[in-house]
Amino acid sequence: MVLERRQALENCVFCPKLCRSECPVSNAAPRETLTPWGKMSMAYFLANGSVPAEPSYAEPAWACTGCGACKSACDHQNDVAGTLLAARAGAASLGLGPASAAGVVARFATFQAAHAARTQALAREAGLRGGPVKVLVGCTYTARAGAEARRAVSAARRLVGDVELVDVCCGAPLAHAGDAAGFLRQREAFRAAIRGASSVIAVDPGCAITLRRAYPDGGTPLLVRVDLLLELAHRELAALARVHPTGEVRYHDPCQLGRGLGLYDPPRAILTRILGHAPREFTYARARAGCSGAGGLLPVTMPDVSRDITRARAAAHDGDLLPIVTACASSLVAFRKTGAACDDIVTWIDRALEARP
Ligand code: SF4
Ligand code: SF4
Repeated sequence: MVLERRQALENCVFCPKLCRSECPVSNAAPRETLTPWGKMSMAYFLANGSVPAEPSYAEPAWACTGCGACKSACDHQNDVAGTLLAARAGAASLGLGPASAAGVVARFATFQAAHAARTQALAREAGLRGGPVKVLVGCTYTARAGAEARRAVSAARRLVGDVELVDVCCGAPLAHAGDAAGFLRQREAFRAAIRGASSVIAVDPGCAITLRRAYPDGGTPLLVRVDLLLELAHRELAALARVHPTGEVRYHDPCQLGRGLGLYDPPRAILTRILGHAPREFTYARARAGCSGAGGLLPVTMPDVSRDITRARAAAHDGDLLPIVTACASSLVAFRKTGAACDDIVTWIDRALEARP
């Protein structure tokens, strides 16, 4: 499977590693095999039989947050993250992935059932009556950021009227774990859950990318528009009231929102409108933003490295320590775990809609 991506693999294998300083994983755990070059080379050698089919050669594929920083720095714009996902699928099919990733697959049915129960509870609590617009709150929000999940439902309702929540996960955890067949089954479950919808609103950019981009790969497209809640709020910028006039915050570009979906200005415009002035920036922002370490299942497969990346990102700024505002559930949870004060932009959007005259 991964050899279908031979060109991307060979770009890296024969490269002088121009992106090596960009990778948060190899910066936090400085080993040659954990650089983008090392991970892609191991995937290539494993796939073409140059190295034995052993876990030590397979596991570097899981040492990636999917942040896209290497791609941004690469003259070829090489899709390392997507290729490593294909490498994970190939290795996992041979039983070569890390036990922690296999555990995610083994627990997924339980995880999905819990996500469905939490989503249904959110819908009951909000008194939703249903409608043609479906909202995917995202499993990390429902499981680990309940207050933000409620704010997201409330904001979606204020923006588009009554909505219905989708209680089926988009399947991203399975894709990250390397379970390609499980991901395709989850995709079909998701498709069934949104049948008849006029559009889907995703709260998390990781879900939005999974729905917009990964779904057409090797399967039937969703054939329904997928909006990000933040994009809808940006279209209604004038409706956002100023609710935080004196606070200073620093905006973190989530990798999937920034480098993934190219959305750098809309979150800044929303925060500027609500604050009355522009949010402060990290030393590295926009396309050069540092990763929070929370993506690609890294908190599960390499928790210590993930935590070190989060700490480094939270500390990477010139000037005062300020509360962080982010726009994805994984980074929100990761920053809070390190003790950093962090809000999600959905909370701000909902407060600003609530306060409009
Ligand atoms: S992503 Fe680009 S710069 Fe980095 S190792 Fe691969 S080919 Fe080289
Ligand atoms: S996508 Fe990010 S974490 Fe993955 S190899 Fe590239 S720079 Fe490293």
